[in-house]
Amino acid sequence: MNIHEYQGKEILKQYGVKVPEGRVAFTVEEAVAAAKELGTSVVVVKAQIHAGGRGKAGGVKVAKNLDEVRTYAEQLLGKVLVTHQTGPEGKEVKRLLIEQGCDIKKEYYVGLVVDRSTGRVVMMASEEGGTEIEEVAARTPEKIFKEVIDPVTGLNPFQAQRLAYAINIPNELVKKAAQFMMSLYKAFVDKDCSIAEINPLVVTGDGEVMALDAKLNFDSNALFRHPEIVALRDLDEEDEKEIEASKYDLSYIALDGNIGCMVNGAGLAMATMDIIKFYGGEPANFLDVGGGATEEKVTEAFKIILKDPKVKGIFVNIFGGIMKCDVIANGVIAAAKQVKLDRPLVVRLEGTNVELGKKILNESGLNIVAAESMADGAQKIVSLVK
Ligand code: ADP
Ligand code: MG
Repeated sequence: MNIHEYQGKEILKQYGVKVPEGRVAFTVEEAVAAAKELGTSVVVVKAQIHAGGRGKAGGVKVAKNLDEVRTYAEQLLGKVLVTHQTGPEGKEVKRLLIEQGCDIKKEYYVGLVVDRSTGRVVMMASEEGGTEIEEVAARTPEKIFKEVIDPVTGLNPFQAQRLAYAINIPNELVKKAAQFMMSLYKAFVDKDCSIAEINPLVVTGDGEVMALDAKLNFDSNALFRHPEIVALRDLDEEDEKEIEASKYDLSYIALDGNIGCMVNGAGLAMATMDIIKFYGGEPANFLDVGGGATEEKVTEAFKIILKDPKVKGIFVNIFGGIMKCDVIANGVIAAAKQVKLDRPLVVRLEGTNVELGKKILNESGLNIVAAESMADGAQKIVSLVK
């Protein structure tokens, strides 16, 4: 789960990570009032969307007086901001962060991620702050330094200092920077983050080490123990279909292709997307209906898939292990009738009662193409949507 920058900064502040003073604003008046309250000569007006790259896209504005705050707030609120992370459709700005202007001496990068290969949390840091870290990694990988963190001892002070020295934090500020990293790590672990990225971390004119940006992502499997994080969820920022799917306990991820997939089991769902691509098609989604999919769940899954106007056909690939194929067949037919399915549907069933399941599908009177195997089904749906 993702949250906004201003929310991330509030959390980090509780752990002693230094951030500029700031206020969230939903309207132009609130923005002006917030700037007045901050009382600094320079304030920064920052669009709050769940995507980075706002600076380059014109979503971060430096205002030198209240009139400028008003002008920028008017410009940004309601505007659709397109950044390299939003996709071409962009995201509408509905909230602003009004923040004290910061006297930046230099920008750095610090990030925490879970590294799958070592199975540990890794802290990464670089002197190349403010720019996209992916670009730094591609062009000058030697400028990214890493420390693998032992889960038992946590981030060691010497590791934090070693990173601070490696990225050339001025000597007199190394201790502060190391302390910053220790606090960031504590927040990451306490709140069950999957990503904590500070880009940029800055050294200021008056010798402070601060987070000017904050991106926190949370492990959704741990959200049950963080109601305070769940409360920060902003549904405006999430895919409507994904929200709907989560209500029915369906794992659904929207993708860019035109073949809707309905599968049981995450592994089979991944394999189904692979085989569609193998035969030259593009999946429109990842959808795992789970092991015990009922007729109702299958119907909801169909509705969600069909809400995507890009979908030109559906491939149902179900293995009847715990579930029986005849039950699935009945569910598929009921769903197809209820949603008045108007696009090609290929169904591949395998497992318990498969013959009965196929018979039910064949006798349904609906335009359902039965597939003999996964490969056969993938080829059929790919050619049907072409
Ligand atoms: P994004 O990563 O989405 O572009 P950032 O929060 O990193 O957004 O802001 C982009 C740039 O704007 C920063 O690299 C920094 O140079 C500048 N900036 C952001 N916040 C402030 C601030 N409070 N004071 C001064 N400059 C800022
Ligand atoms: Mg940034």
